[in-house]
Amino acid sequence: ASSPADLVALITDSKLAGRGGAGFPTGLKWKAVAEAPGHPKSIVCNADEGEPGCFKDRAIMDYDPHALLEGMLLAAYATGATRGFIYLRYEYPETAKSLQAAIDEAAAAGLLGENILGLSGFHFTLRIIRGAGAYICGEEGSLLNSMEGKHPFPRNRPPFPVTHGFEDLPTVVNNVETPATASHIARKGPEWYRGLGLGEHVGTKVISLSGDIQRPGNYEVPFGFPLQTLLHHWAGGPRAGRTIQAVTMAGLSGGFLAGEDLRVTLDDPCIRSKGSFLGAGGIIVFDDSRDMVQVAHDAMAFFAHESCGKCFPCRIGTQRLTERLNGIGSKEFPAWQEEVNDIGSVMKATSACGLGMAAPLVTESLLRYFPDAIEQHLSSPQ
Ligand code: SF4
Repeated sequence: ASSPADLVALITDSKLAGRGGAGFPTGLKWKAVAEAPGHPKSIVCNADEGEPGCFKDRAIMDYDPHALLEGMLLAAYATGATRGFIYLRYEYPETAKSLQAAIDEAAAAGLLGENILGLSGFHFTLRIIRGAGAYICGEEGSLLNSMEGKHPFPRNRPPFPVTHGFEDLPTVVNNVETPATASHIARKGPEWYRGLGLGEHVGTKVISLSGDIQRPGNYEVPFGFPLQTLLHHWAGGPRAGRTIQAVTMAGLSGGFLAGEDLRVTLDDPCIRSKGSFLGAGGIIVFDDSRDMVQVAHDAMAFFAHESCGKCFPCRIGTQRLTERLNGIGSKEFPAWQEEVNDIGSVMKATSACGLGMAAPLVTESLLRYFPDAIEQHLSSPQ
């Protein structure tokens, strides 16, 4: 790509979509920022990675930090942004050191600063901002508020960060994997990237796999890849004598898949048809030794703890659902189901951000796959 517009066209042509979970087309986002009025523009990398079961961004930053830096530099060139920030998860202190070393190397090589690579007017600075350990700061509005030193409540949208982002100026917010992938696309071309997916699907996704599985870790799979192949062939299956009872999707945010739905392929059209979503690609495996009601309780307690409290359906709903999973509320299954569905549907319809909309997927999927375990739980003495 010889000009910023060519680079935007190349990334658009690759059909690269955001890897943080929302899946917004990257080329469109870069184009919107390039065309938005207002300066200085910013490139913000969301490296907060607070979702339980997600650890792919950490691996990219630890083992290939220059891929991220290069991708952010490409985004800066494409959009005219002059400021770059990596908002890094507080719990990654070692990553902060290796990222800073990479930033220093890039600056020493003349890849950061003024008139980069001799291109007149191409200025870009890059610095790390460390989060303070709040899950909600992975939500982009909260992240931007946190960067500005404000209370990290999610922002109402519209307006979107592409026009009103950091300091109310045009801002690209990309997850780590997105710019890291863009750097490879710029080198190898959009056809190469599109061709990596299976069937109609485009490109690849890094999946963080953990839990009751013999070989946990990060696996880069083509979109459209069968979950069963990942679990049983690549990752060695469950421990000897065990079977896989359920997996989570999107870390915890996508709830559970179980039974026949473990036959999904790893792409959003397929996973969404089962009532879940792929998100940032965290999958936690639970074998048949696990009490799934307890697992669901712990997941909901996490959401209740991390709810930022801005809106009451989520602030109160996550507490009420945690209580239902803890034996408080109706002891009769039909009434319990009605209560839980009622709370969940209000949360999904009225919560102000993804946390409150996604948390009910935990109870929804528990009801779908494990009604007998719930009945047993309700009938046992608390
Ligand atoms: Fe905060 Fe939850 Fe409302 Fe999101 S849905 S704004 S996390 S209270």
